[in-house]
Amino acid sequence: MGERPNHMSPEEFRQAGYQAVDWVADYMARLGDLPVKSSAHPGDVRAMLPAEAPKHGEDFSEVLADLGRVILPGITHWQAPGFFAYFSANASGPSALADLVSSGLGAQGMMWDTGPAVTELEQHVLDWLAVEMDLPEKFRGNGVIQDSASSSTLCAVLAARHRAGGINALPNLVAYASEQAHSSVEKGLRVAGIPADRMRPIATTPDYAMRADHLAYEIVKDKNDGLTPFFVAATVGTTATTGIDPVTEVAWVASNFDAWTHVDAAFAGTAALCPEMRFLNAGLETADSYVFNPHKWLLTSFDCSAFYVADRASLTEALSIAPEYLRNPASESGTVVDYRDWQVPLGRRFRALKLWFVLRHYGLEGLRAHIRRHLAWARELTEWVESDHRFELAAPTVVSLVCFRHKDGNKATSRILEAVNQSGRAYLTSTALGGQIILRVAIGSPQTERHHIEDLWNLIQSVA
Ligand code: PLP
Repeated sequence: MGERPNHMSPEEFRQAGYQAVDWVADYMARLGDLPVKSSAHPGDVRAMLPAEAPKHGEDFSEVLADLGRVILPGITHWQAPGFFAYFSANASGPSALADLVSSGLGAQGMMWDTGPAVTELEQHVLDWLAVEMDLPEKFRGNGVIQDSASSSTLCAVLAARHRAGGINALPNLVAYASEQAHSSVEKGLRVAGIPADRMRPIATTPDYAMRADHLAYEIVKDKNDGLTPFFVAATVGTTATTGIDPVTEVAWVASNFDAWTHVDAAFAGTAALCPEMRFLNAGLETADSYVFNPHKWLLTSFDCSAFYVADRASLTEALSIAPEYLRNPASESGTVVDYRDWQVPLGRRFRALKLWFVLRHYGLEGLRAHIRRHLAWARELTEWVESDHRFELAAPTVVSLVCFRHKDGNKATSRILEAVNQSGRAYLTSTALGGQIILRVAIGSPQTERHHIEDLWNLIQSVA
């Protein structure tokens, strides 16, 4: 028989677990001192790993020791207070602990029957959020956690394709999204069999919002050409600048042609938890599906994307296959939700635990405070940019992303980006719009305090 598997006993797990939690707590404590962006070169991390997998088990403390030696130098610290790149990808203590519990339970939530609590907690916390974010009534009871906004958008496309006639209708289907829509829209369409030349990029206003009149024009043109407009993606908070598409007009146009409106609010959507930000929900009552990512700004570690659909039948009919081996009385009774029919994979983790722990730990007011701090600091930074004659804003500050550039042009702007990132104190990313390079300061990291924004601004001014 040879060696026995060295399963950790509950007591050994307890001891190793304490060490692992200590390691994470120590990491959290020194996040502010670490250079934000990893300076690893390609191959650096692999060069520190043994060529062959370990033949015999090692002591857990040796594994932990290698976390610091091998892994940390190759980590960009997304939770660092000086992380202002991309959009934030919040983690938090309660969320990390929920992931631990979820892994410890190791439950599969593919159907209600395989884990009733996995399904029902998910339904419940998504309804809590729908109510607290004042999402339209039709989305309540119709939420599901996906791994990402990309998967949510893919599911929306698949549901829309089903409603438009399914695979048989494929050759005629046309989709629409603004020029500023996230690449996941094009990817979802491609996966669903709609090639890039049947996705119409719709022009935007100077504020990078979709032009509903252009949308209507393109849809009518396609209709007249005998094509079937079936899917429109509207974005609330575009990736480059947090531009806000006019969802009311967009959904009105789409619904007139029986096209599905999907609203991608991956980052900005979270802000609607604050009543004063509810303008972000305008038009949702006419939309068919909606996604926002708690794993971006709601203190819930990746992965956790909240996807809501008004007509769940289109989604489940598109994705449901019931082989004999998955049949069970609960599913057959029609009284339960089987989330395997709401997503592409069969299996699913217990991700709702993260939202539950986070909601209970922070409470709604704590979460609102988290968001409001970032909104306020973004407004302040916007004012600082406006009052420095060397800079100009590149887009309105709608939530917590501030976009600006050096008036001297791309070289001057890029120089600032490099200097900031090389400092190790902060990490920014840029984007290009109309040939102009733009700095993006995306505020959203849990450890960020106002003085970190001041430090960043002082740094930018000193290298400008
Ligand atoms: N949609 C928008 C507007 C985004 O900004 C992003 C990522 O930043 C995505 C979709 C993709 O998110 P995910 O990584 O959850 O697929």
